[in-house]
Amino acid sequence: MSADVRVRFAPSPTGPLHIGGVRTALFNYLFAKKHNGTFILRIEDTDQNRYVEGAEDYIVESLNWCNIPYDEGPGKDGVYGPYRQSERKNRYKKYALQLIENGAAYYAFDTPEELATARENAEANKETFIYNHHNRLNFTNSLTLTESEVQERMDRGDDYVIRFKPEIKTLFIFDEIRKGIEIDTSLLDDKVLFKSDGMPTYHLANIVDDHEMKISHVIRGEEWLPSMALHVLLYESLNWDAPKFAHLPLILKPTGKGKLSKRDGDKMGFPVFPLEWNPENGEKSSGYREDGYLPEAVVNMLAFLGWNPGTEQEIFTLDELVQSFSLDHVNNSGAKFDPEKTKWFQQQWFVQQDDAVVGTAFAKALQAKGIEYGSEEFVNIVVGLVKERAVFVEDLFELAGFFFTAPIEFDEKAASKSWKEDTADIMNNMIAVIQKTEDDSAVGLSDAVKGWIKEQEMGFGKVMMPLRLSLVGSLMGPDVFEIASLIGKQETVRRIQFAIEKLG
Ligand code: GLU
Repeated sequence: MSADVRVRFAPSPTGPLHIGGVRTALFNYLFAKKHNGTFILRIEDTDQNRYVEGAEDYIVESLNWCNIPYDEGPGKDGVYGPYRQSERKNRYKKYALQLIENGAAYYAFDTPEELATARENAEANKETFIYNHHNRLNFTNSLTLTESEVQERMDRGDDYVIRFKPEIKTLFIFDEIRKGIEIDTSLLDDKVLFKSDGMPTYHLANIVDDHEMKISHVIRGEEWLPSMALHVLLYESLNWDAPKFAHLPLILKPTGKGKLSKRDGDKMGFPVFPLEWNPENGEKSSGYREDGYLPEAVVNMLAFLGWNPGTEQEIFTLDELVQSFSLDHVNNSGAKFDPEKTKWFQQQWFVQQDDAVVGTAFAKALQAKGIEYGSEEFVNIVVGLVKERAVFVEDLFELAGFFFTAPIEFDEKAASKSWKEDTADIMNNMIAVIQKTEDDSAVGLSDAVKGWIKEQEMGFGKVMMPLRLSLVGSLMGPDVFEIASLIGKQETVRRIQFAIEKLG
């Protein structure tokens, strides 16, 4: 591949970025990095009616959180900027005029009312209304008016649009993922390229910018596949080389039926956005970041939505993804979103982290809840003992909360199973054993207590279960002597005494 790979992610800032959009950005990023190319962010904000405050910042923050920053884009001006279409407004009209000159476009003066009537008439005849070669001569446009009539209308300030006039032929287009497709262009409509408000439509702005920004590959969602023929025709009509195209498969609901939507996430309890979205006057939506997911896990999961490495390997760092990525391994059928698999990726990434990294996050979470944790070192050791069983930092409260706060309640089932009539006496005797022990390491405590149990010829469970219950409040947790050693002899004794008081 040539060294000049330039790809772009071109979202419209109409709200929070769906994870499908993040997947598109990721595949563009991977493709760019794989080929030492450039990854560009272009904000397609020509439709001011759909513009949503904060959406652009959200997009940038999402890419940064995923560790897939853009090389060129808003705030990172390269030679091809500006990167917001609203700041490129004045560039588009000349191309619309060039198309008119080339005979590939025309002015149309039809009013919204006239078009509505035409649509109603078509519907009355059970036809879908389409404005193209079969009826364009019935409308008010520069193909039916004389040059001076057109001029007259413009001079008096009539609204007009510029429409495309597709050449009628069998068009062969090639998609890197779908391969060759044959299109009968007589089925296309005469798309509006330039609107009466002086702004281009998506189609014109998109191809002009891709051309001016020297985009080599357009990698985008499958919902744009139906526009590809029009885009290719536009390039042809402007005598420009078209970029290569790759349309990524849709992300489907967990059931496999239809596109994944925010509603699916709400219903089944998973986010469909990378970050939380909390508009001032609007509905709040959850995000992967705030739900405790690691960006590495989210990226890994997204990579597998529509791509596969062709091997059994499933855990990939971003660098490994860059090395392995190729469009040849992108599927052409929809990718089912699987919330359980997403959790699995998170779990895999979570346990791989250093104890100190998880420890820092957990310490912060403890602090936020006003729980004293002593030192970070202590938290790190605790994390090392329980990390394997956690998927999120939040899980550590349940798995390890007792290291920081003594139980005040005891799990009822566990208590009735482990605390018998003679337990209080046994526990009192054990307190004496623990107090006598000089070595208060986990091994030291274990040797002392286990030695004593053997001496007394008691069953292990009779002692170990109530001991655990006293320290933890339930019968779960890591090695009980690790716990005792970490919280210290004094606290261990205090907790046993409390249990005796409470359970009798
Ligand atoms: N602005 C379009 C979108 O919102 C871009 C489509 C494309 O990549 O061409 O997805």
